[in-house]
Amino acid sequence: MTSLIDSFHRQIDYMRISVTDRCNLSCIYCAANSMPRLSHYDVLRYEEIRQIVQAAAGLGVKRIRLTGGEPLVRPELSKLVELLSRVEGIDEISLTTNAILLGKYTAELKAAGLKRVNISLDTFKAAKFQRITGHDKLGDVLEGITAARKVGLDPVKINTVVIKGLNDDELLDFARASMSDGWHVRFIEQMPLTTGLKDNGLVPVKDIIASINNSLGQLEPCRTASGNGPAKYYRLPGAEGTIGFIGPLTDCFCSGCNRFRLTADGRLRPCLLEDVEIDLKSPLRNGATTADIEKLMQQAAALKQERHRLSEDFSLGKRQMWQIGG
Ligand code: SAM
Ligand code: SF4
Repeated sequence: MTSLIDSFHRQIDYMRISVTDRCNLSCIYCAANSMPRLSHYDVLRYEEIRQIVQAAAGLGVKRIRLTGGEPLVRPELSKLVELLSRVEGIDEISLTTNAILLGKYTAELKAAGLKRVNISLDTFKAAKFQRITGHDKLGDVLEGITAARKVGLDPVKINTVVIKGLNDDELLDFARASMSDGWHVRFIEQMPLTTGLKDNGLVPVKDIIASINNSLGQLEPCRTASGNGPAKYYRLPGAEGTIGFIGPLTDCFCSGCNRFRLTADGRLRPCLLEDVEIDLKSPLRNGATTADIEKLMQQAAALKQERHRLSEDFSLGKRQMWQIGG
């Protein structure tokens, strides 16, 4: 089988698919600028996503993550999960969600073939949750986490974007949850992707590690709870859960990058942080075959840069996180 290998010998075997650019929250680091949303016509239909995944699987992509915007606001998401889980060569389908609607859909998502979820949660405090996301929905997220664990969408990982002066006083509480509740927590350096936050709010990964080491015990490096992404994983002594660190600004992870991103309007992005995109939707709607789509994917692999420029001459791109999928 032909594989997707880029110019720096990295094999692409993972694809993150944004199924919508709409969201039921408005997180300050993600959607600070309000922009017009895609029209219904411009968003890929489920069958089109399936065709793209089939082409990707033919080139060795094995794992798919559905994201957004908020993927669970797209109607009947479990139908897409089911469609994709039947594509030959796809081993795992996972979801990144803010979990507001997760409690409602866990059972049908699991039955459709979803394997695991990453849930975004930045605070345990209701007032702060409202400040960060613009909505009073912390209770729904916590219920979503419980529901996901109950049906065995394992391991549930919690993604926490660290924002200086806003939630950095709660990092030890998140770290403790890896011991008390077996949570797999991942701290993410906030990327300056919205104009409102540029050059602000960075708490470097090394400072978070030092603070945990000083207060809760020495973190031991460990293997990932599953997946094979940009996080480096550790465990506190005796903890069931793990603590991961993702440092796009201070601990560049590009050398191990194994992924493509597909936007809701059908653009294939070799890198989250570069505006290079290849349109797959127009060719598909003009009758492209699987082999045609595979060829476009090979072109996208050739365009993948060695690394992002977030900490150098980075300027805000034409899309924001809710438009790409994080
Ligand atoms: N709505 C879903 C959610 O929030 O989990 C999925 C889409 S969201 C864009 C995917 C991930 O990107 C989330 O974990 C979110 O916290 C993260 N994210 C968004 N903006 C970010 C930023 N400026 N820096 C770091 N992570 C960010
Ligand atoms: Fe929505 Fe996720 Fe962006 Fe928050 S991070 S605004 S939940 S897409």
